[in-house]
Amino acid sequence: MPSEDKMNSCDFCGKGRIVKRKQNISFRQMSDWGPIQCQAAVAVSVCDHCGTGSVEPGADKIFDEAFRRQYAALRTVVPLASVSPAWQPAFR
Ligand SMILES: [Zn+2]
Repeated sequence: MPSEDKMNSCDFCGKGRIVKRKQNISFRQMSDWGPIQCQAAVAVSVCDHCGTGSVEPGADKIFDEAFRRQYAALRTVVPLASVSPAWQPAFR
């Protein structure tokens, strides 16, 4: 089990302190419906000295869930036949 100090110091520069925060990250993921724009709030660790950042373990699960949610929402809201480029910008 890592100590408190180890968790809070930056591995990259060895000087900075790692600050954890929630960050909204937008990403696009391909699906059989084409690219889907998703947004997920994930915990990230950022060094206050060199700015090196990394997402917390488990973030891929959060991204995956955000994608599934968005994908399911699209399927519910828009019948497959009516999918068109014009519709996409309106959907956030
Ligand atoms: Zn650093």
